[in-house]
Amino acid sequence: MAAGTHDYAQAAPPEGHYSAPAEDLNALDPKVWARTVRRDEDGVLTVGGLPVTRLAEEFGTPAFFLDETDFRARCRAWRDAFGAEADVFYAGKAFLSRAVVRWLHEEGLNLDVCSGGELATALDAGMPAARIAFHGNNKTTAEIRRAVEAGIGRIVLDSFEEIVRVAHVAGELGVRQPVQIRVTVGVEAHTHEFIATAHEDQKFGLALAGGQAAEAVRRALKLDGLELVGIHSHIGSQIFDMAGFEVSARRVVQLLAEVRDEHGVELPEIDLGGGLGIAYTSDDDPREPHEIAKALGEIVTRECESAGLATPRISVEPGRAIVGPTAFTLYEVGTVKPLEGLRTYVSVDGGMSDNIRTALYDAEYTVTLASRTSDAEPMLVRVVGKHCESGDIVVRDAFLPADLAPGDLLAVPATGAYCRSMASNYNHALRPPVVAVDEGAARVVVRRETEEDLLRLDVG
Ligand SMILES: *Cc1c(COP(=O)(O)O)cnc(C)c1O
Repeated sequence: MAAGTHDYAQAAPPEGHYSAPAEDLNALDPKVWARTVRRDEDGVLTVGGLPVTRLAEEFGTPAFFLDETDFRARCRAWRDAFGAEADVFYAGKAFLSRAVVRWLHEEGLNLDVCSGGELATALDAGMPAARIAFHGNNKTTAEIRRAVEAGIGRIVLDSFEEIVRVAHVAGELGVRQPVQIRVTVGVEAHTHEFIATAHEDQKFGLALAGGQAAEAVRRALKLDGLELVGIHSHIGSQIFDMAGFEVSARRVVQLLAEVRDEHGVELPEIDLGGGLGIAYTSDDDPREPHEIAKALGEIVTRECESAGLATPRISVEPGRAIVGPTAFTLYEVGTVKPLEGLRTYVSVDGGMSDNIRTALYDAEYTVTLASRTSDAEPMLVRVVGKHCESGDIVVRDAFLPADLAPGDLLAVPATGAYCRSMASNYNHALRPPVVAVDEGAARVVVRRETEEDLLRLDVG
């Protein structure tokens, strides 16, 4: 190369986890988009047949658009895959609203809650209490009382204190509360990997190793207010590999066998938790519900046969795998700032207040130009929010057409889980609405916050 020139084509690309740009930046990978998302003949992204340009006009940006058709189809796929011999509990913390509770109820799913607020939402929207399970490592006595009074189906006990607390409340109310015991099985599974170290060093559950879990069973069986129905395990999140569930199921069944040997009781249920992964980008390959159901069923049946136990009723608790893929976030581009030799920063009208996952977990997302198509060259971008943090990143590395301009709409797929539910008012941001779309009709299920909402809490 001649002195004084710089060959950009030869220069090392900036650091990041991106692969080459897709051949067609306008293409939509069905893996990451909700079921009814398409482009119309003008190139505009549509959901349920409605163009996002019109949706943006009507509902504003940023906003979450939730494909109700897809949500219901996923509920049914889980329900059908597990059949009548198992229970599917939707993990409400992924995203909960009254509309969601009604859809779950209609599609025959049960519901997990982990706070008084989630329980109140579930009951208000008419979910029968018997179909709700209550989790969490520090439920207050008031929350426990509310749950037991309502006739909640399961309370998942997470500590020795809680065993006594729930028994006490049940005693006062004169009922026998069905409970499970949450155990830590000594495996922790996270994105793409399977870690078998440092697993017991966490706040949830009672460890199988060292006998804490067995001691919890002993104590729970002695208390009149408790009806111990099973053992519960939840090993992590965004899991693709079934190996973690395999170890978990084996160890839970071992405990069931020990309980039988020591107490002469066969506990009738095991809950294997949630954590099934979804496709955030084209690189992720999630399993279908029927594959997961088959694998879990086989593992449990095999382990129970070898332990001489009747196969217990299995339950699972997918949150992300149901709601995650069903929604996308729509943003408007405000500024486009090229940094020579690095990448272009694209600022949108939301950010870490509507999607904290990128900052919190280094989560990866993709993004597409939604209000039109473009044949311009790909440019490497980072999509950032409008908050006062340099870590306020929505999409760390992606390619968008080089003619991107303020006013364009961007859509980020797979934001249905843990985005609106973790949204904050940082910088006094107004949390975005959730708009459900079904067969050509759009309706707000959670409205946008207003400045009045903010000021109402601020009593001066
Ligand atoms: C969070 C959680 C789930 C749901 O996890 P996903 O990754 O959303 O499937 C299920 N069960 C328990 C106990 C949880 O804490």
